[in-house]
Amino acid sequence: MSDVLSSPIQYAKGVGPKLAKILSKKGISTFEDALYFLPRDYEDRRQLTPLVNLRAGTFAVIFGKVTHVKPQRIGRRHRLEVTLADTTGEIHLFWFHAYAALLDEFELGQNVVAAGDVRQVGRGLQIAHPDFEKVTELKNGNPVISLNFGRVVPIYSETEGLHQKTLRKVMREALVASLPHLRESLPSSLLQELKLPSLRQSFTQIHFPETVPGQEGNDQALQRIIFEEFFILEIGLGLRKQKHQRERAPVLSAGSSQLDAFIESLPFTLTPDQQQVLQVIKKDLSQGQSMCRLVQGDVGSGKTVVTLGAAVLASGSGYQTALMAPTELLAQQHHRTAQAFLKVQGIPILLLTQSQEGKQETLRKLQESENAIVIGTHALFQEGVQFKNLGLVIVDEQHRFGVEQRAQLLRKGPGGTPHLLMTTATPIPRTLALTLYGDLDLSIIRQKPAGRKPIRTRIIRDRQRPQLYKTIEEVVRKGQQVYIIYPLVEESEKMDLKSATEMYQKLSQEVFPHLKVALVHGRLKGEVKDQILAEFKDKKWDILVSTTVIEVGIDVPNATLMVIEHPERLGLSQLHQLRGRVGRGAESSECLLVADQYVTERLRIMTKTEDGFVIAEEDLRIRGPGEFLGTRQSGLPGFRVGNILKDAVLLEKAKEEAEKLLRKDPDLKMPEHGVIRSLVESRWKQKIERLRGG
Ligand code: ADP
Ligand code: MG
Repeated sequence: MSDVLSSPIQYAKGVGPKLAKILSKKGISTFEDALYFLPRDYEDRRQLTPLVNLRAGTFAVIFGKVTHVKPQRIGRRHRLEVTLADTTGEIHLFWFHAYAALLDEFELGQNVVAAGDVRQVGRGLQIAHPDFEKVTELKNGNPVISLNFGRVVPIYSETEGLHQKTLRKVMREALVASLPHLRESLPSSLLQELKLPSLRQSFTQIHFPETVPGQEGNDQALQRIIFEEFFILEIGLGLRKQKHQRERAPVLSAGSSQLDAFIESLPFTLTPDQQQVLQVIKKDLSQGQSMCRLVQGDVGSGKTVVTLGAAVLASGSGYQTALMAPTELLAQQHHRTAQAFLKVQGIPILLLTQSQEGKQETLRKLQESENAIVIGTHALFQEGVQFKNLGLVIVDEQHRFGVEQRAQLLRKGPGGTPHLLMTTATPIPRTLALTLYGDLDLSIIRQKPAGRKPIRTRIIRDRQRPQLYKTIEEVVRKGQQVYIIYPLVEESEKMDLKSATEMYQKLSQEVFPHLKVALVHGRLKGEVKDQILAEFKDKKWDILVSTTVIEVGIDVPNATLMVIEHPERLGLSQLHQLRGRVGRGAESSECLLVADQYVTERLRIMTKTEDGFVIAEEDLRIRGPGEFLGTRQSGLPGFRVGNILKDAVLLEKAKEEAEKLLRKDPDLKMPEHGVIRSLVESRWKQKIERLRGG
């Protein structure tokens, strides 16, 4: 990047330390920041209106001579009225609060241009607090064009102590100083094809356009800036994808008959989606280049068997598989499932967790049996764990792991990098998938296994609590179990934990003294928590009061009622995840959302659909990408201008064009792609890492 663009805005003419500080509040620290500080609106000040033609209730730009100046003092405040006249009529400019300097500003006979909304006051017309400029130079009797008049002027979002006129001056300075140093990033052939203006034209048109952008069908400049942002991201993702694909990986193609036998032995038939995803994985694994695939599927869509199928393929080819789960409990659960489903295959199945006894034994076996499947937590990838020949790494619920943890998994083995298969139960809307996961291959399991009972979801009010307690009682009497979720808010976690505990006490001592009620929350030690969850699964408890710690993967088919307190505290996707804890058995299940006061539209969608993708799209639309991803930032960090929801079409286009360009020049070696390469390096790399870290 050029020096000018990255130099502090304080170096701009007319910007002192004080102004620089105010600008920094607006996110403008460098010249480049200024370029990207886009107007929020424009005002068309090209046409002067003769004073006789002025109409109340319209916006007008006027020009006249000062004929009267009337300052007035009211208490400690000054008012000012200035009368302007042209050959056709007159108008009053009016300030309710006139600052001292303004009082000396106007002299009789002075030429002035002004803009503002015209109002009727008494029998005359007035503009209150106009934007104005004294005119010193005339051309054919009209004022010459200035920064603020005689053109389409940009309106920026303001901050206290920062006026439009000042901002315009700063922007003009920044633009003039930067333009010669801006390097065009997009190849001219691409610009031509997409009918987009150059970078220089774009910034000029955005800040000081000749016609009103958007109104006269000319927002190409903005489109260009947004396109570039997306394009650079997509190139970055594309490069990463190539990198995976170039990694050599073991060819796992010998397990086909084992896979068929495994599928044959299952107590159910795979859904078409499950079958299809398995076929794709089979192909990936046989290519000799590293697979990097993310399988998305709603809770209960049956991702586990699919991952086990992949493990069977690895095992059949004589390679080991490591399956990493986010919690010990889930690891144990997967271990049991694997043992049950893979019994007939004779594949060694190992468990490796932090707190496990007999770890040494497991570690030894891991070095001996070359086709073992080892299931565990991140303990799998700590020091001292040696694989004999790891061919496949499976990360269950990948969003629970950080980037580094995931990277650790891919240590090279003798056969090359292991293949990577990840799953997530948080469906990722397409626009997000394009931006965040563009470097991965995506598979979707959309259908649920047949015979699933729908989960009925209802919103109930706080005052219906007696009825709620009766419902809970009835469910327990039928021998089934109940979750009651009490979400904590991060900011007031302590207080909420107190209220969760109080609620637990009230329920266990006053409301249901005759039932067995347990409490789990994140502050409990891992083992204690797992112990309680295991006991709940064993039906030792009727009711489990919990914070959102049970969100991931717990499978208790006998639990058929889910009560969620304060559902408004949670995102829709999270509610959907929680709801997925019930509806796992043969009995029909219900989810009750106990809404405090008013019910928002947002919650209502939960009662209307069980499709996680629909809910995710809605969640993304309502909360925006930052909140959706849980990064607590407004918008997707890194995008200064583009909005992945509003500009989805440009995003798709950028993806397509990025792919095309990388096919032509995979390493960005062509001279015309040099700027793109350096932009990708400087702009995106860390940002993506950071984003996906959560
Ligand atoms: P998730 O996608 O949430 O990880 P699981 O893999 O835990 O879901 O599957 C949920 C339940 O559905 C498990 O008990 C599993 O055995 C069962 N299951 C998976 N596939 C099928 C299928 N095709 N038909 C019937 N049941 C299935
Ligand atoms: Mg799962």
